[in-house]
Amino acid sequence: MDSESASKHNLKVAIRIRPMLPREVEEGYEATRLSVINKKEVVLAGDQDKKQKKTFKFDKVFNTDATQTDVFEGARISQLVSRVTDGYHATIFAYGQTGSGKTFTMEGYDYKNKNDGRAKSKAPVIKDDENIGITQRAVRELFQQIKFKKDKTGVHISVFVSYLQIYSEKVYDLLNLNNLNPKKNTKGLRIRWNKKDQFLVENLFIFECKTEEEIMELFHFGLKNKIVASHNLNSQSSRSHAIFTITCESVDPANEENVVTSKLQLVDLAGSERISLTGTKGLAAKESIDINKSLFVLRKVIMSLSDSKKSSKDKSHIPYRDSKLTSLLKQSIGGNSYCLMIACIAPSDRFTEENISTLNYATRAS
Ligand code: ADP
Ligand code: MG
Repeated sequence: MDSESASKHNLKVAIRIRPMLPREVEEGYEATRLSVINKKEVVLAGDQDKKQKKTFKFDKVFNTDATQTDVFEGARISQLVSRVTDGYHATIFAYGQTGSGKTFTMEGYDYKNKNDGRAKSKAPVIKDDENIGITQRAVRELFQQIKFKKDKTGVHISVFVSYLQIYSEKVYDLLNLNNLNPKKNTKGLRIRWNKKDQFLVENLFIFECKTEEEIMELFHFGLKNKIVASHNLNSQSSRSHAIFTITCESVDPANEENVVTSKLQLVDLAGSERISLTGTKGLAAKESIDINKSLFVLRKVIMSLSDSKKSSKDKSHIPYRDSKLTSLLKQSIGGNSYCLMIACIAPSDRFTEENISTLNYATRAS
């Protein structure tokens, strides 16, 4: 992920292969078909004849032994954060089937804050909080950079946070409990198109945060509300997209009129697996269509963006409006924004079909 190629192409694609889980090993599953070369290529061995291989290339591949720190450093997330403090938008997505490690990558496993019983019984004392994910690390990095910038240049950056979920093409505010009550919010929040060519979510709560702790408090509040939402909406969180948005407003003391707004969006996408439609009617079938559609539109948008970069074609045809997800990400994936997609993979041989699909999706995105 060198900066030279970043200037040609603002989208980077990384693959993360999670380790086999103890449960999978106990159940006798094996992982024999995936291998990694030079931290950049994934090789998938053929079915019968292992010689029939297929190789996929990416900006970076994190193998099963990569720690959360390795991912944060190897994917150069600090650099992305500094783009944001410099006034550009950036988006980090986690893509992959349910169980492939998206949430682990974005949120990590924070024993101190997980309140699911498991944490209480097994909570080891983690002093170096190695298991926290990209979001917490990016927030920490952001505040360090803001302080550094203030000391060096006098530029003052205010930070605002919102956290929403898109479920079945409806937008819910994860920081507003009333909004997660389906009796009070049957249609989800409305998205409005403003004069500056941006999409805005009406009535979304946005909080100003002065410290890392304040952001983390809201983040954990939102995480708890994701669980509330899945009860209320009778949904599974694996079927919704969660977008945590950090907005920075920079004011240069030399020119206080000129406020630069930039966003860092951290996105835990819905599971990419094809939900079998056989015998599925009503809501579940609709959910499946909505998820597959928004991931499909996301790929179309990303492909149109990289095509139009290559050929400098007209950008007006990019189909942002075709899904809520891409509408909301418009600002931070188009134009001069920086994007990182981390496609997550579960290495077990039983997921080969899903892995081929993820590797293809990620290849076409890059
Ligand atoms: P997803 O969000 O894609 O559905 P999760 O992040 O919930 O997947 O991961 C599924 C399971 O695998 C969880 O129990 C998680 O703790 C574990 N897991 C995922 N990635 C890793 C990893 N890199 N190292 C160890 N455990 C992992
Ligand atoms: Mg998840």
